[in-house]
Amino acid sequence: MSGTQGQAPVPGDGTRAVRAGLPEPVKYEPTLPGPVFAAHYHLPGEPTGAYTYGRDENPTWTHLERAIGSLEAPGEDDVETLVFASGMAAISSVLFSQLRAGDAVVLPSDGYQVFPLVREQLEAYGIEVRTAPTGGDAQLGVLDGVRLLWIETPSNPGLDVCDIRRLVEEAHARGALVAVDNTLATPLGQRPLELGADFSVASGTKQLTGHGDVLLGYVTGRDPEAMAAVRRWRKIVGAIPGPMEAWLAHRSLATLQLRVERQNATALAVAEALRDWPEDLAVRYPGLPKDPSHAVAARQMRRFGCVVSFTLPSRTRAERFLEALRLVDDATSFGGVRSTAERRGRWGGDDVPEGFIRMSVGAEDPEDLVTDVLRALEESAR
Ligand SMILES: *Cc1c(COP(=O)(O)O)cnc(C)c1O
Repeated sequence: MSGTQGQAPVPGDGTRAVRAGLPEPVKYEPTLPGPVFAAHYHLPGEPTGAYTYGRDENPTWTHLERAIGSLEAPGEDDVETLVFASGMAAISSVLFSQLRAGDAVVLPSDGYQVFPLVREQLEAYGIEVRTAPTGGDAQLGVLDGVRLLWIETPSNPGLDVCDIRRLVEEAHARGALVAVDNTLATPLGQRPLELGADFSVASGTKQLTGHGDVLLGYVTGRDPEAMAAVRRWRKIVGAIPGPMEAWLAHRSLATLQLRVERQNATALAVAEALRDWPEDLAVRYPGLPKDPSHAVAARQMRRFGCVVSFTLPSRTRAERFLEALRLVDDATSFGGVRSTAERRGRWGGDDVPEGFIRMSVGAEDPEDLVTDVLRALEESAR
């Protein structure tokens, strides 16, 4: 890795994933240093430097933040990443650090299910909240006088996609900042900062870490002032990840490329099998060439994710289908190596039909999974 002349080629996704955030080699030290459990650090004299108190900084976060930054914005040294205790901690830190009473913000009307609660809180602080659907770039219609535009693409659970570049241009022309929720795509599927966004924000709980055993969130941004406000918010609310979670997340990043390749390819295979099923299941997957999201997704995404959605004719049929599955757990969330599926209507909140299923495709053998899904469809129809 040393002594080569000239520009080093940009390594591929797999190479970047396995090396992401690793410190310079030190003889007899582990390649990925273990979690640092510290509330405070030795700090004689003036309290300056990176590591003062555990709520401000931790070396285990530093490694993970460098790792995520190198995936969200490869080759760019001027981006900053901050990790949080959860995706919602990261989202709230951007919203509540950037918005003041009297500001207006645009949220997606079909975004993550906690947004109605966020909306209530923003409004209680005197912030005007406008919403519009993700599909058809409908948020363009409500941008006038807005301070912040929040994009979630692909949207969860509807899997609609909007044109990030186009929305960013219009928002920036009006002096608004733009944040993109990059949870579903992961940084190997989509790089919002390269598309002009000010913040890429995500839940690391999903495919980024991929084992369903850690809650985590992060914010990546390029503007030092805006990121300083986000950092300050993290310090004030203390929404910090534990060192063990941060370390587990970093360890899991090494297999990110392997996992997304396998899971996303199988997601396409499952989507195709559902599409070819004799009943019309209104299958949605941005990677299907005939999906309404495909054209825009193909322009801005490098991979289409591991989530497939479809609609069974009734609630009972959906429940029977979920019960009949053997390789797919009936569970919420998505992105893990073990496939899950759920009837979203059971939560209330999402604007979806009673028989709507969100399925997250794991790392099982594709033939096994497709067979299981088709068998469950058949059994649940009887
Ligand atoms: C899960 C999720 C979140 C929230 O993340 P947590 O880690 O559960 O707090 C935010 N946005 C999207 C799109 C999600 O799927």
